[in-house]
Parts: sequence; structure tokens; C-alpha cells
Amino acid sequence: MALMITEDCISCGACVSECPNDAISQGDLYFVINPERCTECVGFYNKPQCVEVCPVDAIIPNPDHRESHEELLAKKKQLHGE
Ligand code: SF4
Repeated sequence: MALMITEDCISCGACVSECPNDAISQGDLYFVINPERCTECVGFYNKPQCVEVCPVDAIIPNPDHRESHEELLAKKKQLHGE
């Protein structure tokens, strides 16, 4: 399941450099996660790195992008190769 950033985001930018998939960018109001690139960090880390560093707990599962572990791993391989 891709993650998403809520309106609680304070636009500190702490998450951007933590993402191994370059999935996070500045949106119109606050930072946003591209669900086509977010793998929930599967294939890189055991925990979503953006969630780990967010000081206001503004990053949650995206209910519109439910994916299994296998699907997230396949996305990671598609983005980066094996
Ligand atoms: Fe990037 Fe991982 Fe956060 Fe997804 S969960 S946006 S891959 S840091």
C-alpha cells in the first residue's frame, strides 16, 4: 500500500531525502507522495523511512492504493531493476 501525506504536514521536508524511490515532492499546499513510486520502502528498509522521520505523524496508508507485499516488491523492481 502506498502511503500518503495528510494536511497535518508542516512542510519541513524531513522526509524527502529519506525516500529511496524519490516519491516525495512539494505539492501545492504541502508535500505529496507519488503512489506510482511509493513501495512503503519494501525492498530497501523494514519500515517506511518517511514515517520514521515525520515530526507530526502526517504520513498514513493511502486507502486508494492498497497493494500486497509482493506487489510493492514488484514495483520496487520495476523502478530500480533487481
Ligand atoms: Fe518513500 Fe518509503 Fe515513504 Fe514510500 S514509504 S514515500 S518509498 S520513504
